[in-house]
Amino acid sequence: MTEANSAPEHDVIIIGAGVCGIYLVYRMLELGLSVTVLEAGDGPGGTWYWNRYPGARFDSESYTYGYSFSKELLDEWNWSEHFAAQPETLRYLNHVIDRFDLREHMQFGCKVQGAAFDNAANLWTVTLEDGRTFTTRLLFTAIGMLSAATMPRIEGVDAFKGPSFHTYNWPHEGVDLTGKRVGVIGTGATGVQLIAEIADKVGSLTVFQRRPNWCAPLHNAPIDDEEMARIKASYDAIFARCIETPGGFLHGPDRRSYLEVSEAERLEFWETLYASPGFGVWLGNFREVLMDETINREFSDFIAAKIRARVDDPDVAEKLIPKDHGFGSRRVPMETRYYEAYNRSNVTLVDLNETPIECVTEDGIRTSAGEHEFDVIVYATGFDAITGAFDRIDFEGADGSHLKDKWQDGPVTYLGLQTAGFPNLVTLAGPQSGSVSTNFPRGIEEAVDWTTGLVRFMREHGYQRVEADPGAEAEWTEHVKSLYGFGLATTTKSWFTGYNSNVDGHDTLRYMVYFGGAPKYRERLAEVVDNDYEGFEFG
Ligand code: NAP
Repeated sequence: MTEANSAPEHDVIIIGAGVCGIYLVYRMLELGLSVTVLEAGDGPGGTWYWNRYPGARFDSESYTYGYSFSKELLDEWNWSEHFAAQPETLRYLNHVIDRFDLREHMQFGCKVQGAAFDNAANLWTVTLEDGRTFTTRLLFTAIGMLSAATMPRIEGVDAFKGPSFHTYNWPHEGVDLTGKRVGVIGTGATGVQLIAEIADKVGSLTVFQRRPNWCAPLHNAPIDDEEMARIKASYDAIFARCIETPGGFLHGPDRRSYLEVSEAERLEFWETLYASPGFGVWLGNFREVLMDETINREFSDFIAAKIRARVDDPDVAEKLIPKDHGFGSRRVPMETRYYEAYNRSNVTLVDLNETPIECVTEDGIRTSAGEHEFDVIVYATGFDAITGAFDRIDFEGADGSHLKDKWQDGPVTYLGLQTAGFPNLVTLAGPQSGSVSTNFPRGIEEAVDWTTGLVRFMREHGYQRVEADPGAEAEWTEHVKSLYGFGLATTTKSWFTGYNSNVDGHDTLRYMVYFGGAPKYRERLAEVVDNDYEGFEFG
């Protein structure tokens, strides 16, 4: 136990050097604080450090994904594509770090095992897997929402004698798939990008699909110097637009009601959306498409017709069309010639509903129909989303209770930023925060700025402790739950709603995501500040 007045080694420790941690350390240094970032990877970048699978790229427009806080940074960085690929994004994040001299405040290869709060001294002791410890007054998590990769619970996963890996852990030295027999399990946003990218490079590709997703074309394109100059001149308008949309993207719901347009107009609009770049087809549609089952069915039928038109074999096309959920109720994977991959003679789709996987063998994957032999197996099987990264660190609160236990039946938070009983812990990009349902950097810049204000407020008042009030937490969590009553996202199982078949206990609805939209979240954060941080207790 630390003595009551003992000073911690740091004012702030940030866990994670991804998109959030990078901006957060910048702001903390600006306040003149002693801060260090503990990052598990051997380099910064978070999501963009780990996900090196072929095809990994944005589906937010590149120029809406970069940081907006520095005009100089905006002016000097050129994006090469409308939806940049992973290597470019990783270069960008490294550029930001070097430009603002942040690297010396980051420590890599630091896997945090646990953190315990000392109630008498108001400080956290953070312990790494290698046994090292650090003390800090404030502990900020920037650990990502899709950073706890999950392998499928299939017998024999370790039996395969060739290379096999989760997409998140794609080998950094790269993998030569040329001419190889490759098996891929999973058809979420990751699998869809990977499959489309490697189909024409591998010898053979077998895709194991449990549930298909509604995918739509990304329509990526290069950006030349002239266009980049135009984008730079428009940054104010671009960010102003992102601020007004619910998801922090360029795309917000169409202002018209579905009901006020004729069928011909509607179809023309949908054709335009389908032919346009990015998330417009999902987020720029009529509101009713994501709210009303009948209207959603009509749009789903529109997309199904596109899939049928793009896939030569009608049986394969039917397997690729979701039958258990409507368009947009799960996260829409954006694709580039994904459906056309199935027209290739070297690509086979295995429908796991017809022939379930029995086990992974030394040589491949055995389904109820027989064995498929592979040189490489890739698991694109997703994440223990949003809370998984928290569960993998043992946070011990003021009274010795553990965060994992507290959140066992689903997260409870105040504003998604704090949880009662865990003082001085701010959970940026935590469950129920605005950032987890928005274009990530847009959401995270607001969360970081708000947290910076909180730190400043504490300093001005000489506070050493901040903690969410249990009543405020209960009210916020109820509010988050109430928003699940609107829209169709709760009609199906996905990571939005807390499901993961590969994690014990994650087979029921959990309230993970704030569905109120970025503008409402921003308003609420501002109100809390205006009311002297109501809902927080200081000491
Ligand atoms: P995901 O959407 O959760 O998809 C996982 C896939 O693996 C699903 O098809 C799932 O099938 C399948 N699966 C899981 N366990 C399985 C098992 N035991 N047997 C057979 N199949 C199994 O994960 P993800 O594709 O990695 O995407 C997660 C999120 O990351 C996305 O929604 C997106 O937000 C983000 N992401 C973003 C980008 C981007 O910005 N460009 C790219 C990739 C990912 P079921 O559907 O049946 O569960």
